[in-house]
Amino acid sequence: MSRPVTATLDLSALRNNLQIARQAAPNSRVWSVVKANAYGHGIDRVWSALGGTDGFALLNVEEAILLRERGWKGPILMLEGFFHAGDLELFDKYRLTTSLHSNWQVKALANARLNAPLDIYLKVNSGMNRLGFTPERVHSIWQQLRAIPNVGQLTLMAHFADAEQPEGIVEPLARIEQAAEGLDCARSLSNSAATMWHPEAHFDWVRPGIILYGASPSGQWCDIANSGLRPVMTLRSEIIGIQNLKAGDAVGYGSRYRASGEQRIGIVACGYADGYPRHAPTGTPVHVDGVMTSTIGAISMDMIAVDLTPCPHAGIGSPVELWGNEVKIDDVASAAGTVGYELMCALAPRVPVVTV
Ligand SMILES: *Cc1c(COP(=O)(O)O)cnc(C)c1O
Repeated sequence: MSRPVTATLDLSALRNNLQIARQAAPNSRVWSVVKANAYGHGIDRVWSALGGTDGFALLNVEEAILLRERGWKGPILMLEGFFHAGDLELFDKYRLTTSLHSNWQVKALANARLNAPLDIYLKVNSGMNRLGFTPERVHSIWQQLRAIPNVGQLTLMAHFADAEQPEGIVEPLARIEQAAEGLDCARSLSNSAATMWHPEAHFDWVRPGIILYGASPSGQWCDIANSGLRPVMTLRSEIIGIQNLKAGDAVGYGSRYRASGEQRIGIVACGYADGYPRHAPTGTPVHVDGVMTSTIGAISMDMIAVDLTPCPHAGIGSPVELWGNEVKIDDVASAAGTVGYELMCALAPRVPVVTV
């Protein structure tokens, strides 16, 4: 038998979550964001469960080509656009909608020899200061683009830095309105947080990512606990060792944990080389043999120690859920000082993945 750690992907949860996103933004079309190999789930495994989407958004041309080769004929949005003028040949061949955020891209697009115009998402910098044109420049770029024969449909695009905050999109939305004034343009502004919590920002196309995979854009599961969203990924393993500690006994590297009395602990076959966060402290929630308990001591490369006090019947071979329906990935992430996004994306290649 192989090592017991596995990640199970529940494709019905993915379908469900796309429905929830649609219900949240009933008048918008949906770009399902599948960048970073579908947030670590594997684009090839999950894309067909999202087949009811209106389009896929990602940023790796290889992933876009994979979707085309698998037969996806609908729109594909390249969130960071083309990285070099030479990429436009592939964008043309595979009919990719491209974001446009820099002057050099406008020139490259004007000079490219394409078989047909490409649809363009003109990116406004609405205050996050990563990619995009300042609102003041949008009008002139827009007119410039309108005059380029290679430009098909034009959409205004922006991205929010603080959409999980109740007031987090007030200022950026005002900047986007300023940029869009007088332009008769379609808009795509909303990530998961804005899709869930800011209907005033939905417009023509929303771009949910993290909620499709059933984690919270705020990093707090409680924020989506009543939304109907369901976790897609479950990371499971088994107890492969048992230790009976006496008062003062240490556990794991750095002897970071010492038992205060007699204590039975289990050793789980999963560690940071599987994608479990090394920074998770003693007390991080874990589900063992049907019971909630917690980790103990440092996370090793291949093993995690867990407290078996609440589950005296657990033994070698008992099932362990590291995250999934019982233990929310957001709760593990927040214990470790990160977000569910990072844990999903960091699922290690050595973990076998099963889809159900
Ligand atoms: C990643 C990304 C999204 C999706 O963000 P979530 O928070 O996962 O919903 C949307 N738009 C852009 C431009 C992105 O890069």
